[in-house]
Amino acid sequence: IDFKFVRDNVEAVAANCTARLSSADPHLVAQLYEQYVAAQQETDKLRAARNENSSAMKGKLEPEARAALIEKGKAIKEALEGLEARLVALEDELQREGQRLPNMTHPDVPVGGEDVSVQLALVGQRRSFDFPTKDHLQLGEELDLIDFETGGVVSGAKFYYLRNEAALLELALVNYTMQKVVAAGFTPMMTPDLVRESVFEKCGFQPRAQNTQIYSVKDSAMCLTGTAEIPLGGVCMDKILAESQLPMKMAAYGHCFRTEAGAAGSASKGLYRVHQFSKVEMFVVCTPEQSEALHQQLLDLEVQMFTELGLHFQVLDMASHDLGAPAYRKYDIEAWMPGMERYGEISSASNCTDYQSRRLNIRYRPAADEAAAAAAADAGSGGGKGGKKKGGGKAKVPTQFVHTLNATACAVPRMIVAILENNQQADGSVVIPEVLRPFMMGIDVIRPKK
Ligand code: AMP
Repeated sequence: IDFKFVRDNVEAVAANCTARLSSADPHLVAQLYEQYVAAQQETDKLRAARNENSSAMKGKLEPEARAALIEKGKAIKEALEGLEARLVALEDELQREGQRLPNMTHPDVPVGGEDVSVQLALVGQRRSFDFPTKDHLQLGEELDLIDFETGGVVSGAKFYYLRNEAALLELALVNYTMQKVVAAGFTPMMTPDLVRESVFEKCGFQPRAQNTQIYSVKDSAMCLTGTAEIPLGGVCMDKILAESQLPMKMAAYGHCFRTEAGAAGSASKGLYRVHQFSKVEMFVVCTPEQSEALHQQLLDLEVQMFTELGLHFQVLDMASHDLGAPAYRKYDIEAWMPGMERYGEISSASNCTDYQSRRLNIRYRPAADEAAAAAAADAGSGGGKGGKKKGGGKAKVPTQFVHTLNATACAVPRMIVAILENNQQADGSVVIPEVLRPFMMGIDVIRPKK
């Protein structure tokens, strides 16, 4: 956390917290930081005094003078122990309060709640039906595709089985999406579903907080991932990357587990909100100069894929109350869901700037410095076998924090909801979007079983 920034801009940080409905207290953070710096300076002074005192004892001394120095040494030691304990306590509190601060906010983000989010685009046509429509649950039952009953018996409420064409549809969506993102330069990945709590925290999530959506594993420091953003965030943790490696684009197929505490009502019906689902998530590590353009590229890719899938949707520049802690700016896409007769969120693309990279400690070495380091290393190598000459070579180069971005490429269940409900026909069948057909084992239409 850039504590110096918080202290020097405390009013702006406080206004940002208000705009994002955050209960974090930047004034307390600034105060704790001041106290921490003062205690650190005091500790350094005492350490210097202790060293001076021990040096003084090395010389030839009269017994009284030695006794006085011993007494002084004891007093310094005691004071130092107290101060060091205070320093540790202050650092703990500073980190704890600091972790609660949200990211700063892009100046164009609308301030307020959902109602002030700005519609950036409306894509495709809302389909009008000339027959009574069914929602995905009814279609799922009649076509033998979705089974919440067995899910409830085996795992509990909001767990489900996908059967027949729905199971193939999940795989088709994942395959289609992977093909698209790989063609766009993303490295395909499979990531762990269980991740250390500390990595969640470094990504800006608070696994042990109240009302968290995260399942934690009993008697362990592991949690079930709510999104592959977490294991992907951990890929470069504690690394210094070369600028030439950036942007680093990864896309993972992973499982998401969410407690969905407090979620109820019609917006939670069926597959729309479940405890476990599959998702392809994109994650980008880049320089600060690249992040805004890459944010737009992630959005463009989402728009392209959802258009190819035949969906009608709106793109929103999300308002400050809905950003979550890590995002500096967030674009959501909401598709038309005939079963709810409204738009429902199907994806989110966030630019988290350096919020996660500071916590995950992901840095990069700017290219200019890379070149300087190489030149200095060359100058020092003395023409030997590539080895460095003693004393030559290593230039001290400053590193910077990277920016990170994440975006949903395909959150499977809501895509299934949108496809079933929007593509239903008067005879009760459902047409498979053309781009998915190559992955559907020759099935173009889901028809009622005989
Ligand atoms: P998020 O990581 O919260 O931005 O969610 C990414 C996407 O996952 C959302 O846009 C939804 O499409 C989907 N999603 C989130 N939560 C659930 C859930 N409980 N059940 C089904 N899909 C979900």
